[in-house]
This record gives sequence, structure tokens and C-alpha cells, in this order.
Amino acid sequence: MNYDFKDFVTFRRMMAPILLQILFWFLMVLNIVGSIYLMTRGGSFIALGFVNLIIQTLVIRVIFELLIIFFRMNETLTEIKKNTNPYGSFAPPVPAYAPAGGMAPANQVVGAQTLAAQPRQKTCSNCGASVDPSLSFCNKCGQALT
Ligand SMILES: [Zn+2]
Repeated sequence: MNYDFKDFVTFRRMMAPILLQILFWFLMVLNIVGSIYLMTRGGSFIALGFVNLIIQTLVIRVIFELLIIFFRMNETLTEIKKNTNPYGSFAPPVPAYAPAGGMAPANQVVGAQTLAAQPRQKTCSNCGASVDPSLSFCNKCGQALT
């Protein structure tokens, strides 16, 4: 099955934005033709046709912009959904105050410093030393850190 046809059948790709663009240009042609026709009647109709052209152009443009934005949101959300992994930004954040060895009160004293002051310190599983989380190995005993 053709991919585009599948998108069409499953409503992943909307027809409405394309139809709206066709309808927009159809109304714009009517607007321009109608306004020129008014101007050909001469006299005050020339100014009336000109005002008619500007106002109708703005009104049609704004209405169609709002409609197009509405359908573009759906397309953009579909793209975002396709490009996001199952967890993405919805993964639960790791609490900053929890050391690797388990939960501890935020004000628990570790040496001269508190965990609150050093919130991202890791603990070596082999020797129990506090190590910088950016390190791959413990700087006391050489144990690999996960
Ligand atoms: Zn160690």
C-alpha cells in the first residue's frame, strides 16, 4: 500500500488544509473580479470597489489563517509524536536530593558538607566514598561507577 494513501485513509494527513488553500484562492479570485466589476461602474463605485477589495482580502486572509493554523497544529503534533521516544520529556525526574545509595534526609551530614549543599554527589558501591558523578570510576578504590 502506498504510504501517502495509508496516511490519507488513517486521517494522519488531513485533506482540509489543501482544500482550504484551494477555497482561499477561489474566494480571492471572486473578491478581485467582484471589486474590479464595481470599479468599472465608475464614479463613487471606483472608491467603493477599492475599499471592498482591501477589506474582503483582509477578512478572507485572517479567517483562512486561523483555519490553517488549526489544521497545522494537528500535523505538527503528529510529527512530534513520530519523533519522540516513548518516555521523552515525560520521564520522571530523578530527585536531586537522593544519593545513589538510597534515600537520605536532605540535611544528613556527609563529612563537613550536607547533601543539600552537595545534592548530586554519588556514593561508591565498593568503598562507600563520595565521588563526583561525572567520574566513571571511583577515585578512591577504582570501582566502576554505574
Ligand atoms: Zn570506591
